[in-house]
Amino acid sequence: MDCIFCKIIAKVIPAAVVYEDKQILAFKDIHPLTPIHVLIIPKKHIESINDFSETDEQLAGHMVVVAKKIAADLQTGEKGYKLLFRVGDWGGQEVGHLHLHLLGGAQLYEEIRPI
Ligand code: AMP
Ligand code: ZN
Repeated sequence: MDCIFCKIIAKVIPAAVVYEDKQILAFKDIHPLTPIHVLIIPKKHIESINDFSETDEQLAGHMVVVAKKIAADLQTGEKGYKLLFRVGDWGGQEVGHLHLHLLGGAQLYEEIRPI
């Protein structure tokens, strides 16, 4: 098991967990880009959105519903936040275990541009 997020799920590496259920774990990003920066990950190892199949549609929807709940719990739900999936090299994905970024807690500006 050389996947860092699988190690967090297995509690081999510590993380600041904010939500957990049978399918999903959510924890604070170790290098937060915004005052609230949470990663929502499936407990099943899936590399990226490109590896989602039709049988994962329930899981994909559940991740978004959980993101909404965490945003509300952390007091950024009404003011707003961003949800971001990076996919692959061009998308800037660095960790090869699917994760949904929840970014909030302040007014956020656009930074989506080609290098
Ligand atoms: P990405 O660039 O979309 O693959 O994002 C990976 C994210 O994982 C980055 O924001 C990292 O700061 C975060 N990260 C890497 N290792 C850890 C860790 N051990 N605990 C929490 N977050 C991590
Ligand atoms: Zn993994």
